[in-house]
Amino acid sequence: MEKKLVYVDNAATTALSDKALEAMLPYFGKHYANPSAIHGYGLDAKAALEHSRRLIANAIGAKNNEIFFTSGGTESDNWAIRGAVEMRSAKGKHIITTTIEHNAVIKTAEALEKEGYEVTYLPVDKYGRITPEQLSAAIRNDTVLISVMMANNEIGTILPIKELCAIAHKRNILFHTDAVQAAGHIKLNVRELGIDLLSMSAHKFQGPKGVGALFVKIGHTLTPFMHGGGQEKGSRSGTENVPGIVGMAVALEEAVTHMEDNHRKIIAMRDRLIQGILKIPGSYLTGDPENRLPGNASFAFEGMDKKPIVTTLSKEGIFASSASACSAGAIKPSRILLATGASESLAHGTLRITLNEHNSEEDIDYLLTTVPSVISWLRTEFKG
Ligand code: PLP
Repeated sequence: MEKKLVYVDNAATTALSDKALEAMLPYFGKHYANPSAIHGYGLDAKAALEHSRRLIANAIGAKNNEIFFTSGGTESDNWAIRGAVEMRSAKGKHIITTTIEHNAVIKTAEALEKEGYEVTYLPVDKYGRITPEQLSAAIRNDTVLISVMMANNEIGTILPIKELCAIAHKRNILFHTDAVQAAGHIKLNVRELGIDLLSMSAHKFQGPKGVGALFVKIGHTLTPFMHGGGQEKGSRSGTENVPGIVGMAVALEEAVTHMEDNHRKIIAMRDRLIQGILKIPGSYLTGDPENRLPGNASFAFEGMDKKPIVTTLSKEGIFASSASACSAGAIKPSRILLATGASESLAHGTLRITLNEHNSEEDIDYLLTTVPSVISWLRTEFKG
């Protein structure tokens, strides 16, 4: 088969949508003014900012004044967690999260542990799931925050946020969800789910990099994370990234509008890919077989200890990922797979393929011929 270039790392980041780029361009050019300025140009920039806020709020079932712009998923997670625990500091110092959160949550929780907080990391089952009963049992009188991701970035498992959130609220505990992998990819309505705080990041849904948002349910006022000029109602200082915010809003609206059609196409490709890859001896699907992100096809292969799957695939023109992109580089066992109870050896042999609507059946054909031959070559030839 002729060599192709196939990008299947859409959970790491996506290409900017044409519509988002087009919407952003004027804000790098003639609409360059600072949205805090009170002259005409400034008011134009401010209008674009507020229009974007409305689009984002609509896309997730929120109100305009519940959306705060940030620099991305990491900042939203850090701010949500720190802001929430400080807001509830009079009640206690106990936080509940899971073992499969992104490092933006895990490292924030670990930093808080050093500052005197206690954190319970709920263990997950072999599919990366936690149960409402597990969460109930972990709640204490001094629990102030529960943070559970909506969908996992590595294995694609979707968690039962509505049920978990209901448990938190019965005990008057704030609930945060990291929806960085979910927003724009699965249906998400903050009112139906009952969430207090939700993080998102534009570049995961074909918006630009370095911009995101935090949903903060009306009635909660988080302690500011960034101090300065008082933008975002004093909650998040710093001149807003107007082009980025405009691009994020357009990309999210586009993703939500086309979600059903995109799902049909993406799920058909993903399921054909999964069936084909699982014919490789010693291969396993990772994550929940049923409740998983539409574009996620993640695997673990036996006998791959420290063998460079991703770099070898890259030489064949396939751009995929082994663990979360943010911690890629070194060949370490996948922390997430270990958390699901996989052996260290299997956790070394992971491959994450994440599709979106720009992938094609021809891409899947190419993956289905190339991946099996690369795995078998690595198993027999590579003396790593
Ligand atoms: N949370 C999850 C689940 C992610 O997948 C990522 C990025 O991979 C982040 C948070 C961090 O987002 P960002 O890199 O945009 O700050």
